[in-house]
Amino acid sequence: MNLHEYQARALLKAAGVPMFDGDVAATPTEAEAIARRLGGTVVIKAQVHAGGRGKAGGVKLARNPAEAAEEASQILGMQIKGLTVHKVLVVPAADIATESYVGLIMDRETQRPVFMVSAAGGVDIEEVAARTPEKITRLPVDPVIGLLPHQALTLAFTLYRDYAHVKAAAKIMEQLYTVFTGNGASLAEINPLVTTPDGRVLALDAKIVIDDNELDRRPDLAVLRDESAEEPSEVAARRANLTFIKLDGNVGCVVNGAGLAMATMDLVKYYGGEPANFLDIGGSSNPEKVIAALKIITADSHVKAILFNIFGGITRTDDVANGIVQATKQFKVGVPIVIRLTGTNEAEAIRILNGAGMKALSDMDEAVQQVVELAREAA
Ligand code: GDP
Ligand code: MN
Repeated sequence: MNLHEYQARALLKAAGVPMFDGDVAATPTEAEAIARRLGGTVVIKAQVHAGGRGKAGGVKLARNPAEAAEEASQILGMQIKGLTVHKVLVVPAADIATESYVGLIMDRETQRPVFMVSAAGGVDIEEVAARTPEKITRLPVDPVIGLLPHQALTLAFTLYRDYAHVKAAAKIMEQLYTVFTGNGASLAEINPLVTTPDGRVLALDAKIVIDDNELDRRPDLAVLRDESAEEPSEVAARRANLTFIKLDGNVGCVVNGAGLAMATMDLVKYYGGEPANFLDIGGSSNPEKVIAALKIITADSHVKAILFNIFGGITRTDDVANGIVQATKQFKVGVPIVIRLTGTNEAEAIRILNGAGMKALSDMDEAVQQVVELAREAA
């Protein structure tokens, strides 16, 4: 789950990371009032789940409350990377001497949280990583021991020479690590971490992604979810208890089990197609889940054909067959469906499908080749 900058800031602030106090506004009038309360020059920042807001025109300086209202009216409602801005953050502007990058990610390779630190901050870290990877220092942290003081200092020394800066930055590394582990984050970054002309070290931006698996035991974090800022199909899928990720292709996939869903997507690609989504309808299925899945997939106008790939273990294939038949009665699917199913109650499933004039295949390769061909013909 992505947090907005203002939410991530609150977590960092609670851990002691030095940053200015700001507030969020949904209208230009609110932004103006916050700017008046703060006094001086402020920054107006689009609150969307996307990086590169600065480049996209979503981060603007305003010298007085009237300018704050003006900039807020420009930014509110604007689109950044396909996302609409509903809120802006208004914070006092900092004077910047240097901009660095400090981030923590959960790294699968080392199976540890890994610090990534660079004096080339402010810009996209992906760009730095691609062009000048030598400018990024990486440090895996043993989660059992935690971040040791000398490690925090070593990282800070890669950013600064001035010992006052180093000490301040090392403390921020420790605080960032605490926020990361204490909230089940998969990513936590400060970009830029700045020094000011008067010698302070401040966090000007914050990005945190919380592992979804953390949310069941942390209702205080779960409430931070902003569904208005998320992909609508993914919101609908979560409500229906489906694991769904929207992709750019035209072959809709309905599969049971994450591993089979991945294998199915691989096979779609292997036969020259492009999956429109990842979808795991789960171990135990019921007809309602299948109906919800079909609704979500057919809402995407790019989808030209749909593949069901069901391996019946705990999942009963007759449940899935019933879901398909009921769905096609409830609403017009509009694109061809290819069904491959095998396993639990297979004979019953085939009887149900045949009764509704549909066919079921048992061979996965054959089904995938068919659906890729149908999508290609329709495209
Ligand atoms: P992002 O582009 O989405 O990562 O948004 P950031 O919050 O990182 O802002 C982008 C850039 O705007 C920063 O790298 C800074 O150069 C600039 N910026 C942000 N806040 C301030 C501020 O308080 N003062 C000044 N002078 N520039 C700022
Ligand atoms: Mn940033």
